[in-house]
Amino acid sequence: MSPPIPFFDGHNDFVLRLMKTPAPRDETWLGTGEMGHMDLSRMKEAGFAGGMFAIFVPPLGAGKPPDFKALMAHPPYAMPMPPQMTHAEARPDALTMAGLLHWMERSAPDEFKLCRSAPEIRTAMAAGRIAGVMHLEGAEAIGPDLDALYLFHEMGLRSLGPVWSRDTIFGYGVPMAFPGSPDIGPGLTETGKDLIRLCDELGIMIDLSHLNEKGFDDVAAVSQAPLVATHSNAHAICNSPRNLTDRQLHMIRERKGMVGLNFATFYLNADGRSDSDMGWDVMLRHLDHLITELGEDHVGLGSDFDGCILPDLIGDVTGVRGLFAAMSAHGYDAALIAKLARENWLACLDRCLT
Ligand code: ZN
Repeated sequence: MSPPIPFFDGHNDFVLRLMKTPAPRDETWLGTGEMGHMDLSRMKEAGFAGGMFAIFVPPLGAGKPPDFKALMAHPPYAMPMPPQMTHAEARPDALTMAGLLHWMERSAPDEFKLCRSAPEIRTAMAAGRIAGVMHLEGAEAIGPDLDALYLFHEMGLRSLGPVWSRDTIFGYGVPMAFPGSPDIGPGLTETGKDLIRLCDELGIMIDLSHLNEKGFDDVAAVSQAPLVATHSNAHAICNSPRNLTDRQLHMIRERKGMVGLNFATFYLNADGRSDSDMGWDVMLRHLDHLITELGEDHVGLGSDFDGCILPDLIGDVTGVRGLFAAMSAHGYDAALIAKLARENWLACLDRCLT
């Protein structure tokens, strides 16, 4: 088989799986095979050269998580938003996951590097080390005084979404619903605007995925940085509030930002179903639309590995090879595929991680 196309990925939830898995950490990280969507050995096989690694604290409460596949199998659906989580509740798990990213580097120093700048990312990738970037998905671990942000920045945090699909003291998320508009609820709170300003000052990229439309507009007004949605799709094709309207895409293009294609079936399928049996044409339709509205330089991947239901054709991280083959068969040339695979993300990180 020819060597894989190296790619940079805008979003994964591997660290949450690493924290929660009952299996020994080494097995989960270094890879003995079949668990979840990714591990070090499958990432290398796939060409996974770098990506944003989310710190995400799931909703509290005992018991098994809901069966999203079943719940989202028959649109319309509208899941209630989980209640707000205090920073005291969120911080222990967030710190554990930040620590795990450092552990990942220590346990495989020649193969994984936790990167803090765009040059570091490029250097690591050139040396064949996977470049990980620490991302906070939902900023509950930061209190209203924002002081913890300095510490997370010191720990390596370089990307932050003020909300997941759950309200915070900073802003309001969009629900998991179909069909629906992202224009739901108010914009950022004053504390949220202060958080955005401090992120700009520290050189932490703001992630707009999961924010509602008024929050998106507030980030655009308050921040000077490029507008980035690490893992979202086209609302014109899949009418989910998690996807971006053409108006939002045009703002992202004007601000020289980025959208990473989310592989989650319920943000891809035009009918909002969680069904994983789909052809490559569904992902390609979103890519075509994103490229039309954003231009070739502002589209990439944002898989949501280990945080979503994937199309059967993708299956796990190694399935990205099939996606690149499908892009090629669809008429994308090698230069465009290189942009979508990694060049656009790297150029965007050059602009964001100042
Ligand atoms: Zn997400």
